[in-house]
Amino acid sequence: MRYTPESPEETPRFSGIGTFMRLPHTHDASAADVVIVGVPFDTGSTYRVGARFAPRAVRQMSALLRPFHPFWKFFVFENCRAADLGDVPVVPGYIDESYNRIQSALRPIFDSGAVPLMVGGDHSVTLPELRAAVATHGPLALVHFDSHPDTWKHYFGMPHFHGSPFARAVEEGLVDTSRSIQVGLRGSVEELYDIEGPKELGFSTITGDELHEMGIGEAVRRIRSRVGHSKVFLSFDIDFVDPAYAPGTGTPEVGGFNSYETLKLLRALWDLNVVAYDLVEILPQYDPADITALLGANILYEFLSSVSRRISTSKLRLDGGTSAPGHPPGENMPDVEFLSAASDE
Ligand code: MN
Ligand code: MN
Repeated sequence: MRYTPESPEETPRFSGIGTFMRLPHTHDASAADVVIVGVPFDTGSTYRVGARFAPRAVRQMSALLRPFHPFWKFFVFENCRAADLGDVPVVPGYIDESYNRIQSALRPIFDSGAVPLMVGGDHSVTLPELRAAVATHGPLALVHFDSHPDTWKHYFGMPHFHGSPFARAVEEGLVDTSRSIQVGLRGSVEELYDIEGPKELGFSTITGDELHEMGIGEAVRRIRSRVGHSKVFLSFDIDFVDPAYAPGTGTPEVGGFNSYETLKLLRALWDLNVVAYDLVEILPQYDPADITALLGANILYEFLSSVSRRISTSKLRLDGGTSAPGHPPGENMPDVEFLSAASDE
C-alpha cells in the first residue's frame, strides 16, 4: 500500500472515501510513521455539545490540503508514511467506559512507534490518551494550548469532564508539570483559583494577555526552555483561537489568537520531541462555512509536517529507531530568520 494521499491528477479531491487528506485507511499503525485517529466522544462537555462530529468534519475539510508545504518547502510525505486509522471505540453517555475503550485502542498505536494525531472529541478525551501514551513513554511534558487550564478539581462532585483532564493527569503522575506549560489562558472565571490553580499544580502558564504582550517569538522561547528535550504531549484546544476565526467550539472566549498566529506558533515548535498530538473541542454544528474544521485540518497538517520534518532531518524512524529525534530541539532549525522574525512582534 502507498502511505500517501490519493493523487488529485487521478481522482478529484472531492471524490473517494473521506479519510484525512485522502490517505489510506488501515488498522495497522506499525505500517506508518504518523497516524490520524478520531476520538468522537463529547459526553465530557458542560455547555454546548457536538464534538463527536469533529473527526468527520475535519477529515472532510482536509481534502483541501496539498502535499507540498508552503513554508518549509518540502513534500510532507516524501520521507513520512501516513495513514488514517479511523476512530477509536467510545460509548456515548458513559465516560468511564469510554475512557477504558479509548485507552485500550490507543495502547498498540503508541507501542507501534507511530506518532498519533488524535482528533477529539471534547477535552475529556485527553486523559485516556495520556494514560495510553504514558504506558509506552513514561510521564510526559505537556504543552497545552487552550483558553482554559482544564485543571478544575471536580464538576458537580464528579471527577471527569472536559474541564478536569489535567487535574486528574497530575494526580495520576502522567504529566511532569516541572516541564509543562499552558498557553493562551483567558476569559472570565468563577474565582481566583481558576487562574492560580495551574501554578499550584506546578504548571508554567502564559495567559492570553501575556502572549499578546510578549509576542510569539518570546512565547516560543519560553516553551522551548520549559520543555527542553523531554518527550511531549501536545494538546491543542481549538478555543485557543479567537471565536472570530474558530466559532465552532463548545466554550468560546474572546480576545484570542488568529489563524496565522496559531500556525506560526505551531511551526516554530516543529522539532520538539512530541510523541502525541491532539486537537479537541471542534463543534461542527456551530461552525458556519466549516471554517473551524478547516483550521483544524490545517493545524493537523502542521503537526504532520512537523513529524515529517523531524524524520527528514534526523531519520526519526527510518533507521529503525524509536520516536526520539537524534538532535536536541532547535539545533536543526534551518530557518533561523523565521524565529528572529517571530520575536520582532
Ligand atoms: Mn480545553
Ligand atoms: Mn478550552
